[in-house]
Amino acid sequence: MIDRDRLQREFLTLATIDSPSFRERPMADALTARLRALGAAVREDAAGAALQGDAGNLFADLPGTLPGEPLLFSAHMDTVGPCLGKKPRLADDGRFRSDGTTVLGSDDLAGVCAILEAVRSLDEDGVPRRTLQVIFSVGEERNLAGAKQVDPAAIRACEGYVLDTSGPPGHAVNTAPGNRRIVAVFHGRAAHAGIAPEKGVNAVAAAADAIAACRWGRLDARTTANVGRIEGGGATNIVPDACRFEAECRSFDVDALDALAASIADRCREAAARRGATVEVSVTAAYETFHLDRKHPVVRRFADACAALGLPVTLSPGGGGSDANVYARHGVACLVLACGMTDVHSVHESLSLDELVRVAELARDLMTRA
Ligand SMILES: [Zn+2]
Repeated sequence: MIDRDRLQREFLTLATIDSPSFRERPMADALTARLRALGAAVREDAAGAALQGDAGNLFADLPGTLPGEPLLFSAHMDTVGPCLGKKPRLADDGRFRSDGTTVLGSDDLAGVCAILEAVRSLDEDGVPRRTLQVIFSVGEERNLAGAKQVDPAAIRACEGYVLDTSGPPGHAVNTAPGNRRIVAVFHGRAAHAGIAPEKGVNAVAAAADAIAACRWGRLDARTTANVGRIEGGGATNIVPDACRFEAECRSFDVDALDALAASIADRCREAAARRGATVEVSVTAAYETFHLDRKHPVVRRFADACAALGLPVTLSPGGGGSDANVYARHGVACLVLACGMTDVHSVHESLSLDELVRVAELARDLMTRA
C-alpha cells in the first residue's frame, strides 16, 4: 500500500532542499541514497561537467521479477526560481504550499516522490513488478539541457512514463510540439541622425522591418511563433548600428517547424538587404516534437491502470517540451503523466496530498502491468 504519511514526510523533506537548475548536487545525493536503499544500482552521468553544473543525470536500475523489457520512469531534479530557502507546508485544505516567497517545487518533486513511493511500497508488500529504469534528470527547466546530455545507449527501456505535468492524476500528454529558437543580429552603420542620416544604416529599422514581415502568435492549430525580446540602438541622435531580436516557434509538425524557422530567417535577410544592413541569423533546435498514438501500448497500459483506480483518463497535447521530447528521439515511447501540481512556475504553486497519493498509486499500478 502507498504509505500516505511517509509520502507526505518525503515530499516535505525533499522540498526543503535547494535544487535550482545546474545546482542539483544536494538533491542528487539525497535521491541517490534513496534509490540505493531501494536496492538500485545508481549511476550518474557527466551532464554536470558538460553543463557547468554540479550534478549529472541519475540512472537507477531496479531489477524486477515480472517478464518484459525495462520500463522507464522519469522526473527532473531541478526547480525554477525563486526556489532558494523553500519552506513547504501542508495547509489546512490538504494542499502543499510554499510560504509565498518561493515556488513549492512540486514541479517536479511530485513526480520524484510518486516514483520512489511506488517502488518502496511494492517491494515492501512483496508484490512482483517489472524491471524498472528510473532517470532523474538535471537542468530540465533550461530547455531540457540535462536530458539532452543523456547518452542514448544508457537508456535500456523502450517504453516509459515521464511524471511531469500539471493536472489531476489520470491526465496525460501524448504529443508535444518541437521548438526552434531564432536569434537575429543586425549590423548597420552609425551616423549623426540630424547632420548625416544618409551616411547611416539603421539596424533597428531593419530589425523592425523583418519582424513586421513575419507572422506571430497562433499561426494555425499546430503552430505558434513569438518574438520575445529586442534590444539595440542608443541615443535618438545616432543612427543605430546594431540591433538584435530573439524569437521562437513551435509546431507539432517538424517539417512545418523547420520551414517556419527558415522563413523567419529569410525575412531577416531580405529586410537587412533592403536597408543595406547585414544580419546573422542562428536557428537552434531547443527540442523536438514527440507524438504517441492513442492506441500505443504505453497509452493502453496507462488507461488500464487508471480504470483499475477509478481515475477518468484525459489525453491532450502539451504546449511545451519535457524530457519526453528527448527520450522519444532516442526511441522510447513516452507518455507524460500529470502529478496533481497546479500553478507551477509561480509562488502560488500547490499540490494536493490526496492527488499525490493517487499519482503514487498510479505509478505503482503501472509498474506491475505487462
Ligand atoms: Zn517540470
